[in-house]
Amino acid sequence: MPRPVPRLRTVPATGALPAGPRRILVLGAGGFVGSHLVPRLARRPGAEIVAVDRTLDKLEPGLPAVRRIEADIAKPGLLDELIRRAEVVVSLTALCNPALYNTRPLDVIDASFSDLLPVVKLCAARSRWLVHFSTCEVYGRTALDPRGRAMRKMVEDETALFLGPVQRERWTYAAAKQLLERVIWAHGQHGGLPFTIVRPFNVIGPRMDFIPGVDGDGIPRVLACFMHALMTGAPLQLVDGGRQRRSFLDVGEFVTAIERLLERPQASQGQIFNLGSPRNDFTIRALARALAAAYRKLRPQEPAPRLESVSAEAFYGPGYDDTAARIPSVAKAARLLGWRPRRTLAEMLPEIVGDYLARYAPIPTARARVAEAAGRSGR
Ligand code: NAD
Ligand code: UDP
Repeated sequence: MPRPVPRLRTVPATGALPAGPRRILVLGAGGFVGSHLVPRLARRPGAEIVAVDRTLDKLEPGLPAVRRIEADIAKPGLLDELIRRAEVVVSLTALCNPALYNTRPLDVIDASFSDLLPVVKLCAARSRWLVHFSTCEVYGRTALDPRGRAMRKMVEDETALFLGPVQRERWTYAAAKQLLERVIWAHGQHGGLPFTIVRPFNVIGPRMDFIPGVDGDGIPRVLACFMHALMTGAPLQLVDGGRQRRSFLDVGEFVTAIERLLERPQASQGQIFNLGSPRNDFTIRALARALAAAYRKLRPQEPAPRLESVSAEAFYGPGYDDTAARIPSVAKAARLLGWRPRRTLAEMLPEIVGDYLARYAPIPTARARVAEAAGRSGR
């Protein structure tokens, strides 16, 4: 008989905000999600946040309730002590960029599985609540029910997990994340680990990834790829024509859902949650067009952005594969957390584009590059 998952006692509220744990350890706090989540958690009354990452450059400096630790989570002895002191461990570390899944598959598997096994074991040994970030990628190529019939939405406790063949290394990340979910689940069912698993669906916002050649190298996720192209006047590249669909969620709404689940341990422990926005289901081509339009509004003097199709093999190399459509069911999050995403893509994009433009202002714009080239050739 599976043992019931022990419930964490709720810490009494000390201010206007609802109750929730106060001592929170965030691993991967310097990434895109962490840089939005940590400042929000730090504002909560009585919060004591420990923020760990290899680099915390993206995390707002000077947050009074935040202890910053720049270190690898594999540093000997580090986690043992930090987990002992925490009430909740939020695990965000991963290599979650599709360009790496078929080019650095072993690093991807380590980052999403091997490196996190000690975290799970320490949380289980000390009965600390583990809030682990998995991924919608675990659903794989398309939504299928357990009998292999197509479903429109991906449902946490119903939809099958349908990955491609091993030769398609795209699925290294999804397979590693899925196996860790199963390890966490087993510790919960058979060892009493209090846990919550989150499957984010294409969360977007300011500070996502990097601009190649400026603050990172390689191919970032699609938002930063398109922003890079827009800011440099290069064509936006649509992998296999950009017909594939994604559902885009605003990072601010995503963080609200995380706050909600932390406030409601009774409802959220022992659960897996999709967090995404089904109403923002668009093709990648539509995303490119919408971003280009938002960019043009802020930079009307720039030449009109161009879109071009590129094969997946040319863009990512061999072993890539893709998901045709990815729409979350968020019925469980609505029911148990009272959370419903509302922001449309059109509402999100101006702020995101504005942030990238401000952050990367030294990048010469397309127009400035043309003028510079003309100057060099003496025209
Ligand atoms: P991110 O890459 O921006 O952040 C991950 C952070 O982890 C980075 O700052 C990195 O430096 C850090 N890190 C990795 N390995 C580490 C280690 N060994 N020691 C210390 N730090 C380490 O990713 P994100 O977008 O913030 O995503 C957070 C989590 O959510 C990830 O687990 C990811 O798989 C999951 N996720 C995110 C999305 C999304 O749309 N953003 C979608 C699906 C899943
Ligand atoms: N993509 C694209 N052009 C780019 C980068 C990505 O068309 O410059 C596509 C990619 O092939 C995928 C989708 O956009 O189908 C979403 O990419 P993202 O990087 O967000 O990762 P995913 O959603 O696949 O995890």
